[in-house]
Parts: sequence; C-alpha cells; structure tokens
Amino acid sequence: MVLTHLTIDAARSAVQERQTTALALAEAHYARIQKEDGQIGAYLTLCKERALEQADRIDRMAAEGKPLPPLGGVPVGIKDVMSTRGVRTTAGSKSLGKYIPPYDCTAVLRMEAAGAVILGKTNCDEFAMGSSNENSAFHPVRNPRDLNRVPGGSSGGSAAAVAADLAVAALGSDTGGSIRQPASFCGVVGLMPTYGRVSRYGLIAFASSLDHIGPLAKTVKDAAIVLRTIAGRDPMDSTSADLPVPDYTAGLERSARGLKVGVAKEYFGEGLDDEVRHAVESAIDKLKSLGCEVVPVSLPHTRYAIPTYYLIATAEASSNLARYDGVRYSYRAAGVKSLSEMYRRSRDEGFGAEVKRRIMLGTYALSAGYYDAYYLKAQKVRTLLARDFEDAFRQVDAIVTPTSPTAAFRLGEKSNDPLAMYLADIYTVTADLAGIPGISIPCGVTMDNLPIGLQILGKHFDEATILRVAHAYEQVAQIGS
Ligand code: GLN
Repeated sequence: MVLTHLTIDAARSAVQERQTTALALAEAHYARIQKEDGQIGAYLTLCKERALEQADRIDRMAAEGKPLPPLGGVPVGIKDVMSTRGVRTTAGSKSLGKYIPPYDCTAVLRMEAAGAVILGKTNCDEFAMGSSNENSAFHPVRNPRDLNRVPGGSSGGSAAAVAADLAVAALGSDTGGSIRQPASFCGVVGLMPTYGRVSRYGLIAFASSLDHIGPLAKTVKDAAIVLRTIAGRDPMDSTSADLPVPDYTAGLERSARGLKVGVAKEYFGEGLDDEVRHAVESAIDKLKSLGCEVVPVSLPHTRYAIPTYYLIATAEASSNLARYDGVRYSYRAAGVKSLSEMYRRSRDEGFGAEVKRRIMLGTYALSAGYYDAYYLKAQKVRTLLARDFEDAFRQVDAIVTPTSPTAAFRLGEKSNDPLAMYLADIYTVTADLAGIPGISIPCGVTMDNLPIGLQILGKHFDEATILRVAHAYEQVAQIGS
C-alpha cells in the first residue's frame, strides 16, 4: 500500500482496519511534501502540530474500535483563502502575510469534524484573482505534469497538491473558475457547488455574489464525499441554503443511461484549441455510448460573459478589499506620518499589481456616472445569462463543455497580457454568474501529455446529477498518463 496513492475511502478504511495509522498517513504526505514541494510550490504554510493532534485523535478512535467519520485520517490541503484558527492565512497576499485568524472557516471546521487531517494551507493567486497562480505574492505554483507550465488558478496550489500526491484532497474556491480550471490543468477532479450550497463563512471575500468553496480530489467519488461533508445550512452565512444535503455517493453508481446531456455550440467556437475540442468531442461520444441522449442547446448570451464577470467581480472586489486599511489585521507600512499616508502606503505596498488593477476597474465601474453604464448593465446581462441556462435546463439534465479553451500554458506566457489571461476563463465564469454547479474531470491529454478537462454543468442544487454523469464517464474513460 502506497500511503500517498489512496482515495478517501481507501485511506479511511486502512486507518479503521489498523493497516496503517492517521499519523503514518500524515507523515508520508509530509515526507513527500518535503521532497517534492520545493519545486512545485503548492503549500504556503504547513500546520503540522494541528495535523498531528487530529491524527492522534483519529488513531485513538480507531484503536478503540469506534467507527471513523467519512474523512477519518484523510490528509487534506486547504486553499489559503479559508481562515484557520491559529494558522497563518494569507490569501496569497503580502497584505495578510502575518495574519493569524482567531476563528475557523465553517468548511474547514466541517472537514475536521469529519476526521480530515489538515496538512497545510495551499498557495493561490492573491485574493483568488488570477488563472495561473502567478499572482501569488509568495511564489508561483508549477504544474506537477510539466514544471514549466502553470497549474491554473486561482486554486493552483490545491490542484497541484492533489495531482502530485501531496494531499488526498483539497478545498478550493471558485469565483470565476478557480476550482475547475486548475483541476483541468492538473488532471484532477474539481467541483464547484451551487451558490449557497456551501457556507462561505470564514472565506476571505473576493466577490461575494460569486464566491464558492468546493473540493479538488483524485476521483469523482472523493469529490462527492467532500461535498457532502462541507455542504448545508450554516447560521453564520445567510446565503447558505436551508436545503437537505443528499448522500452524493449513494447515487453515483446509478448509470447515466437515459440522461439528457446538452451541448452548446457557443462553447466550441473561436479560440478553442483543436486538441481540447477533439478530447471533449470524444468524451461526448463516450457519454452517448453510455446511453446518454446528446441534445443541442443554445446559450446565446455566452459571448457577454467575460465582460460581465470582469465588471461584477471587480466591483465587488473593490468594495470587499476596502477593509485592508492597515488599521486592524492587514499589513501596515512603516514610518508613515499621517493617517491618509498610512492608508495609501499600506495598500500600495501590501497589494500586488493584479489586485490593484481589479480595485481600480471595480471602483471605476461603481463610480457615479458610470454605475448605470457598467455595473447595472452587467447585472442585467447576468440575469440574461442565468436565463439562458434556465431555458437550456428545461430540455436537458446536464450540459457538457470544455473546462478551458487550452491545456496548461507556460509560466510567463500570459502574465503581461491581462486580457489574454481573462479570456482563459471563458467557459467557467458563466456558471458562477448563473449560480449553477459545475465539475471538471479529466478527459484526455494533449500530444505534450498535458491534461484536458471536461466540464459538466447542472441545475441549481442538482450536484447529484453532474456527479452521476462524471462518475459514469470516469469509469469508462481511458486517459493517457
Ligand atoms: N480567473 C478568474 C479571475 O481572475 C477567476 C478567479 C476565481 O475563480 N477566484 O477572476
């Protein structure tokens, strides 16, 4: 048994059956991190003390013969935008470089209550703004499949950690694709739940109407187990939905036969790389052979998604990031002579270039005189985008698309061209804007052996169906190494 190659169920039952211990699992992952993460850069902070305490608790349960909870002893990584009590939480930013939260994010608490062993905090783009992880104030993450390439972003550290066996699973956040796109670049599974399915309490806010927490994992089943763990109403987040949480694993084995799967031509247009197109088309053929009925659907407002997203997300970010003023817990510039100089210099020195760009764009979009032309209009277009999906989902149970128009690009390839970088989000931002769930699963590799992702989108609160389609596909997919 290779301790760093286990799925959640395999790890948990090995601990339960005393074939290994939670401690040994954690140590094996730390040893691998020690060996590999110097070149990958997936982790920003390790929390060994907290991890070993939790591992010990789980091992005592196992020794006493008590049934372990669903993630009992499973080593995981947490994206560094989720607050962890007593453990530095940076959001990838110098402005929070020394921030030690006094409380835990609800999703983190739920992971630990379910037995997970938190190894550490994973690297990300600063305040989750980016698609390549090059915007981390600390260091970039490299794609474990090709160290010259980006892992995607902004949850690049979480995706790379899972892909490189530096964690069994991880939590990420998705505002415009930040779980699904890195999952596709690194060849792992990434699930963005419906908006409101998972509490955002303790998540460092980027754009509150678009932010989601969700799992990155090695298999669809693992993603389902993590989702079940973190989902459900939380009194600390008024946008968390008071709906029952299904047992997502129970429905997985049902075949996908008879399900209607939509394909929208808007997701196969200009800019889509040929190798990605072919891989996704053959995945669609596979779904047909599994008994899915493939139905053409239309999502006519898709072409407005990128400008809409980059107006709404930046507007909300400019407001959310106003709190980093140097007064309370964020970075404060030294040697300032007045309050206004402190604000200015603290923010100037604490924030990186992309974050400043977003704050300026968002402040502009919200300013008097431009509000109607930009922000209000973007909100209206957002409604049209959501309606596109409502109409499509009257005909189909799920919609399949490429996750990203290309496979992983090279470090530095787009970092000086924000527009090119923003266009990489073309297939992912729509689901965030509409509030619907989406999953990315591996569906092939390019000639250069880079992973390609298949995205499956679902109806509001119907994660079960996309998991079912993803699982059915995963069972028959033959993906190059
Ligand atoms: N790449 C997108 C952006 O830069 C999405 C980020 C995210 O989902 N957090 O805004």
